[in-house]
Amino acid sequence: MSLAIEKIIDISLELDPKNFGMRTPAGFKKDMQFEMEILKEHDAPGGAGQIVRGVHMRLHAGSHVDAPEHKMPAKAITENDLERAVGARIRTGDRLLLRTDHNNAYDGGSDKWMKASPYLTIGATEWCISKGVVIVGYDFYHGNDEPGAPRVFHNSRTLSEHGIVTMPYLKNLDRITKDRVTLIGFPLNIIGAEASPVRAVVLT
Ligand SMILES: [Zn+2]
Repeated sequence: MSLAIEKIIDISLELDPKNFGMRTPAGFKKDMQFEMEILKEHDAPGGAGQIVRGVHMRLHAGSHVDAPEHKMPAKAITENDLERAVGARIRTGDRLLLRTDHNNAYDGGSDKWMKASPYLTIGATEWCISKGVVIVGYDFYHGNDEPGAPRVFHNSRTLSEHGIVTMPYLKNLDRITKDRVTLIGFPLNIIGAEASPVRAVVLT
């Protein structure tokens, strides 16, 4: 495959220990957000020499992909919205990026951000499955469901159960001006994990 690239658009959310937070619903053995720790300070005067930092993070922190085994109200995004936007053009095997610009003002994952986030209705989730998309990317809170949904994280769990990879915590989708682009978001090569952070970019 050859790629003619005009530009690379970074659609990854910053991983900032001071401005990132996720829900910790019941069932967690311990909380872990995204924290950075200095393991070894500079070993020479004036900040010279080696410094070593480590991070504590969920595999779901920041832009990431959820493997299909992943078990996990503002404005509804319905199947009619999706049909109107891309119904005539979508093809089996496509990766669908859902743009709302909600994460362009990401505030660390506050209740306000979560509650104001758009969500996919159950019908929209089923639309994605019926169209044969293989990845659904979100620039809004992927954990929101329509009122009365049968379980928490219903839409992302349903997609996962159908083998569709979810890619939450994206941003900058408004910078994409073309209809079809190349999405790159390589997961880390971690064995036995249910998710992985990615550096997601779009080539246009
Ligand atoms: Zn996740």
